[in-house]
Amino acid sequence: MTAIEMRGKRLEPTIATEILRQSDRLPSTASRPLLATVLVGDDPAAQSYRASIARTFRRVGVAHRAIDLHAGASDDHIFSTIDGLNGDRDVTGIMLFLPLPGRRADRAIRELVSPLKDVDGITVHSTGLLRLGRPCLEPACPRAGVALLQAYGVELAGRTVAVIGRSPVVGGPLAAMLTAADATVTVAHRQTRDLPEITRAADIIACAAGHPSLLTSGMVRRGATVLDFGTNVVDGHLRGDADFADLLGIAGRISPVPGGTGPATALVLAYQTMLAAHAQASNSLDILDQLPSVAEVAEAVGRDLTALAARP
Ligand code: ADP
Repeated sequence: MTAIEMRGKRLEPTIATEILRQSDRLPSTASRPLLATVLVGDDPAAQSYRASIARTFRRVGVAHRAIDLHAGASDDHIFSTIDGLNGDRDVTGIMLFLPLPGRRADRAIRELVSPLKDVDGITVHSTGLLRLGRPCLEPACPRAGVALLQAYGVELAGRTVAVIGRSPVVGGPLAAMLTAADATVTVAHRQTRDLPEITRAADIIACAAGHPSLLTSGMVRRGATVLDFGTNVVDGHLRGDADFADLLGIAGRISPVPGGTGPATALVLAYQTMLAAHAQASNSLDILDQLPSVAEVAEAVGRDLTALAARP
């Protein structure tokens, strides 16, 4: 058996079409979707992430403005930059590359992002709305992971999922999203005593620990689905948390790194930049209830695939 590779690009045509369709429904006076990415310093990993976002945005037709601040920029300078973007009518989404280099007022800075423009779901406000199941802009990376599962027709309701990692950026919100999708979720972390016992019992294993080759074939039940959020640089190559070559013959489906959750994340950012344009036009996140969510778009992709696979 060779695992099916879950590739982020699978979502692109449908997401691009839906962005166009929903952008056309914006009131004529509203701003068109535009994401401003703010990068403080010159971390190569952040730069390459930004470059891939820029390429995706060009392909799906959403505007992107890159803002670079010197690593030594003062907190005040960063504050006023974000404040300016909050007030800039042309900007519908703001993304901040975290962590900020050096010892900075990280927390205070991230809370400055307007909840109507918080397309990577980093503020306390967005986090609270997500946990309460209210319409909101969500952390893009975990939402992209769930979308990838849906796009490949992976059933979530009633399934057992092992999430490795509990960070506020990936593991934490991912567990909340999967629970909301009716999966039964176990969250593992550094203090977990017997990780293999937990992963072997799972239908779906999501790795967000930041350790190359953390997940190996002995830890995975035959046919299980593996979702990999790891971005580790090993000998100059990007590698996930799962031992991809080892798992190809065991897993039923696996997301490759690169090519899996990464490209899907950029697409979710583009989609949420469009949603944020609607939120600003109506000055409320409640409008999101009336627009297709990322999850609904991904489910449509999954249904199309299932229909194609069922054709004689
Ligand atoms: P990210 O931002 O990608 O989620 P973090 O470094 O913030 O990454 O968080 C890593 C998470 O992974 C932590 O919750 C940590 O407990 C978990 N983790 C790290 N190593 C292991 C391990 N060997 N087994 C289980 N969990 C781990």
